[in-house]
Amino acid sequence: MLEALIIGGGISGLTVAYLSGFLERQGSCELWEASHRLGGTIGTDRAEGYSVDWGPNGFLDREPLTLRLAGELGLKELLEPANSKSEERFIVKHGRLHPVPFSPAKMLTTGLLRPIEKARVFCEPLIPGRRDDGDESVFDFAARRIGRAAAETFVDPMVSGIHGGLARELSLPSCFPIMREMELRYGCLVRALIARQREKRRSRNAGNAIAKKSGGPAGPGGHLTSFKSGFDLIIRRLEDRLQPIIKKNRPVVRMSRTEQGWEITDQTGSKARAKKVVIACPTYAAAEFLKDFDPELSEAFGSIPYAPIIVLATGHRREDIGHPLDGFGFLIPRTQGMRTLGSIWTSSIFTERAPEGFVQFRSMLGGAGDPAVLELSDEQLCTTLRNELDPLIGIKNDPSFMRIYRWERGIPQYKIGHRERRSRIEQLVSRHPGLYISGNAYYGVGLNDCVKMAYRIAEQVGKP
Ligand SMILES: Cc1cc2nc3c(=O)[nH]c(=O)nc-3n(C[C@H](O)[C@H](O)[C@H](O)COP(=O)(O)OP(=O)(O)OC[C@H]3O[C@@H](n4cnc5c(N)ncnc54)[C@H](O)[C@@H]3O)c2cc1C
Repeated sequence: MLEALIIGGGISGLTVAYLSGFLERQGSCELWEASHRLGGTIGTDRAEGYSVDWGPNGFLDREPLTLRLAGELGLKELLEPANSKSEERFIVKHGRLHPVPFSPAKMLTTGLLRPIEKARVFCEPLIPGRRDDGDESVFDFAARRIGRAAAETFVDPMVSGIHGGLARELSLPSCFPIMREMELRYGCLVRALIARQREKRRSRNAGNAIAKKSGGPAGPGGHLTSFKSGFDLIIRRLEDRLQPIIKKNRPVVRMSRTEQGWEITDQTGSKARAKKVVIACPTYAAAEFLKDFDPELSEAFGSIPYAPIIVLATGHRREDIGHPLDGFGFLIPRTQGMRTLGSIWTSSIFTERAPEGFVQFRSMLGGAGDPAVLELSDEQLCTTLRNELDPLIGIKNDPSFMRIYRWERGIPQYKIGHRERRSRIEQLVSRHPGLYISGNAYYGVGLNDCVKMAYRIAEQVGKP
């Protein structure tokens, strides 16, 4: 009988396995991963001088637990803050790139909004904060605070960029809890941002080394950071450490209860018994293998939708691109009628992502608003991208390098009512002693969120 069995070898399952202390008690724990490789949506291809991330390519350095994990894995020296020259971000409107106006002065002069729409943004501090705890879509929140036009221009593409979702469908308190807290605490976002700037200055003065060093593009309260040579470094390091307990090519197909714990079955019919089980795979997978044992829990897991997303990484000769690429890349609001959600200038952000004299872009298509993108062939995807990007950044020739990553159910969607769906899962899980959940479907989709949840769950699971 194993002490614990962890289902899923993405960052969530691996982190739980690493932190719960089972390594020291070798043989008492196993991690079952369905595929032949670990990492889930995290992966990096290295070919022809390119280093290409399949899914995530960075995290914000604001989560101390991620930095702690990186430190414990000996990765601190291998953290790579985004290049400070990539600070500028762009938004597409009427067929051209406009810098995102991060300051009030830039907001006054931006071509992204009409004067009346700008005036509405500046009214934000006058809009009373919502005090009740009801759910609200990200779009409604933004439209209420800064006006519809600004919500469509700035918030809608940001939501597709981060969540692959639709701002009108996703829940603000579940997707961007910080925004909701800002409104609750300060009454308006402007006062909250001023307070955060002050806090940031104080923390810099107090000597936050990474914040000082990076100076890279600021996200909401952090600097984008990756690992030198590619994002999968963290997975490779975890795999090295966890070698004795990892079982690849072992998809769980059934789970049932025994007198002392759990019985887990894989696709070959081979079984294992464990006192504790951590479900760290996508909820749609858990819904499948739990449907005989607990149909109610299976249904609750199945209630979390996922959005498809395609990452198209392309490599180009530098001289084939007309744009100076002096920034992070751009996002495209849905109102612009294009299929590309955005394009990141990877080689402007991180080093060693493209060979000398070449550049790498990672463009995203699909999302909850365009599931049909999955039906496009590689060739059609490439043509769509080329047709949409060419007028924006001037692409003279076809890319000399390309990789396509299709994530059919890529990112869980925290739609309105997510908190209730999550509570229901938690309540049903709590009926089964020795059962735990961890993963990106509950408290945040980013690497930081997954690591944070894994720390909490590892503490519970690791207790003898
Ligand atoms: C295109 C894309 C871009 C992203 N960009 C960023 C970014 O820049 N920054 C950021 O912070 N986050 C980003 N994310 C989100 C982040 O990558 C994920 O939320 C995170 O990696 C999820 O980790 P996880 O371990 O919870 O799940 P997963 O990575 O989905 O891992 C789950 C694992 O469970 C396995 N599994 C499935 N079924 C079974 C079964 N029956 N039995 C056993 N194992 C099973 C799967 O094979 C998989 O390995 C991005 C995601 C995508 C798709």
